[in-house]
Amino acid sequence: MNNYLLKIVLLCTFFILFSSEILIPTTVFKPNTAGVVLSFDDDYINEWYATNQKLKKYSWKASFCVSKINTLTIFELKKLQELQKEGHEIAGHAYNHYNAVDFICDHSIEEYRQQEINPMLDLMNFYGINVTSFVYPYGSRNKKLDAALLQQFKIIRGRAFCETNPKKQGCYYDNKRLVFSFSIDDTHNHFNIPYLLKLLDYSKVNNKIVILNCHKTVNIVNGDYQTKNQTLELICKYIKKNNMKFYSLSDFTPQQYTILQ
Ligand SMILES: [Zn+2]
Repeated sequence: MNNYLLKIVLLCTFFILFSSEILIPTTVFKPNTAGVVLSFDDDYINEWYATNQKLKKYSWKASFCVSKINTLTIFELKKLQELQKEGHEIAGHAYNHYNAVDFICDHSIEEYRQQEINPMLDLMNFYGINVTSFVYPYGSRNKKLDAALLQQFKIIRGRAFCETNPKKQGCYYDNKRLVFSFSIDDTHNHFNIPYLLKLLDYSKVNNKIVILNCHKTVNIVNGDYQTKNQTLELICKYIKKNNMKFYSLSDFTPQQYTILQ
């Protein structure tokens, strides 16, 4: 009788194993709430500070990516500290703003670190600025630099190549520590308001986070590398109206979990 029962159990197990689908553990990423990263490059601290006064009513958040920290006045440094205190991110954008790929043509990556990264981090740390993200000057990067800098930073940002189809733009967060941004400077070849709205619409519909970059913020454009405050206000209104979210680069942490499928 016992043998008979054992045979039945074995037969049932065999049947279950081979008649049903085998479940395989797979790692997937948690979908993000749709939103935007507004990042600002270089050292336009006074202009950024004035922009923040106008946009704080939208409870916005930005990543201010600062270069040449050693040239800032005490008043500019105080403004940076205030921006950090309000919840904005201060990121690194190199000490001298050298083109990293050009620099390592005749220097080692260690020399790049010693001239562009370490003095910047030391000084920012001295001023109480907490830096976890790095933005390449001119978006100039390669894989060797990425590997070296990812040892020191949580997130690094390059610049997106330009495509006309919003779906093919490389400027959305995709759970990687290397991200790319699209420039909304007014004189940038590929920037215009209808296209910016397409990027925001694509993010909203597909739960994406679009990463944008600016330089000097102005009311009236009178040169290159300038972004209109009006454009930034339009983005803030869009984010609020559509219940989307403001992110900083430092917010990016891949949210992985495992499912059986
Ligand atoms: Zn720059």
